[in-house]
Amino acid sequence: MTKTAEKIQNFIDGQFVDPVGGKYLDNIEPATGKPYSQVADSDTREVDLAVAAAEKAFAGWSQTSAADRSRILLRIADLIERDLEKLARAESIDTGKPLSLARTLDIPRAASNFRFFATAILHTESEAHITDNVAFNYTLRQPRGIAGLISPWNLPLYLLSWKIAPAIAVGNTAIAKPSELTAMTAFLLCGLCREAGLPNGVLNVVHGTGPNVGAPITAHPKIGTISFTGGTVTGRKVAEACAPLFKKVSLELGGKNPNIIFADADLDAAIAGSVRSSFANQGQVCLCGSRIFVERSAYADFVNRFLDQASKLKGGDPLDDKTEQGAIVGKTQLDKVKFYVDLAQKEGGKIALGGKAPEPINDRCREGYFFKPTVITGLPVSCRTNREEIFGPVVTITPFDNEEEVIGYANDTEYGLASSVWTQNLTRAHRVAEKIHTGTVWVNCWLVRDLRVPFGGMKQSGVGREGGEEALRFFTEPKNICIAK
Ligand code: NAP
Repeated sequence: MTKTAEKIQNFIDGQFVDPVGGKYLDNIEPATGKPYSQVADSDTREVDLAVAAAEKAFAGWSQTSAADRSRILLRIADLIERDLEKLARAESIDTGKPLSLARTLDIPRAASNFRFFATAILHTESEAHITDNVAFNYTLRQPRGIAGLISPWNLPLYLLSWKIAPAIAVGNTAIAKPSELTAMTAFLLCGLCREAGLPNGVLNVVHGTGPNVGAPITAHPKIGTISFTGGTVTGRKVAEACAPLFKKVSLELGGKNPNIIFADADLDAAIAGSVRSSFANQGQVCLCGSRIFVERSAYADFVNRFLDQASKLKGGDPLDDKTEQGAIVGKTQLDKVKFYVDLAQKEGGKIALGGKAPEPINDRCREGYFFKPTVITGLPVSCRTNREEIFGPVVTITPFDNEEEVIGYANDTEYGLASSVWTQNLTRAHRVAEKIHTGTVWVNCWLVRDLRVPFGGMKQSGVGREGGEEALRFFTEPKNICIAK
């Protein structure tokens, strides 16, 4: 382990604490390939301590009024906004994403998550059912206890706050485990929660690896609710661990999202939207459209203009304000991207753009994990490159001849997270959207998020839905109380 300035400690029972065994892992900055801090390498012992703290805190927190909980969550949102620049910089260093993206998307959305659920709990309704002249039923929704919240590295604060906010808003206590690759913003959030007056033990954050911390959380008998976002392979392990204990589980998993462009689309908008949906955060957004299908009559024009725009994306040091393409999160992920680019060529694909690392940007970033935006054409729809999630700046473009064919292409994968359809024909837009097997279909847009709508995947992209009412329901237990008339 290298000696670095900052230590990312666990946050248990309102205190920042070292892991019991005293071990830390190097936290690598993707842009430099060098350690810049250390993250607690915790295990079952810290999970047990966090469970004890969360259990103790639940008694009081679950009885707090919605108005009081709302006030604290709103204060957390305010503090995130106050520290926006500091958090955005931390997120950029931690993940390799451009600072401008962290500043305009990730961190503001983390504040919105707290604000949304802080106010949502002030406006909930409860169902009542009258059973003729016999009885009156009403549904009491109560917090479930301790929630285990496990999140990935690509949008660390945004995705974790999307779980923490609804879980604690409705009166649960929580144990969160961010990816150990990108733990800094969760660590900073803990300080803000303390400053906002969140009672000790309501939120506990245990840092460490998936096997050492994530697995003990999913297996712990006192953690009855698990909200997991990550890859499909890990999701399967989480499901296996939770099933025998009958836990309530939400799984937000991987994707291989289609982006369909009909010849009648506004091509300027479709190209700009597709460049964004292909390469935002270096393609490391679960919702990125990694398979582009273009109607044959518009194919050549689309490809030429798409390549032109994608080639102009400004790669650079993530901390440079002008950078549009930063670094890949780590060496393992970079190797995965390279593997698929090689595979695509073996499968008959042609690299139309990118396909390799850029020249070193500056001295600071000489050893960083960079890869150029990459476009591959000429691949069959059913090849591995077109079916498996790469999760990097790699996109394929394929022509199609008619609506039925492209719906078949779009659905020809085990995943079903999101899709986008570009057309000016509204009837077709509705028809195609209905037939695509994804949890979200965007029409003439991408990544427009309304926190009230159900969010999640179909098929192997997940089980359950997050967002708005769905999240409030997920984190509560509905109890029917039946009173005889
Ligand atoms: P991952 O490897 O599945 O890890 C996700 C989280 O699970 C990390 O905190 C990880 O810890 C932890 N983990 C690993 N093994 C575990 C186990 N056995 N039990 C419990 N937790 C365990 O995913 P990732 O590489 O971080 O993230 C990329 C994936 O997330 C992509 O597939 C992407 O599509 C998906 N994603 C989905 C959504 C969505 O909303 N559907 C959103 C964002 C990302 P470690 O980091 O220590 O391994």
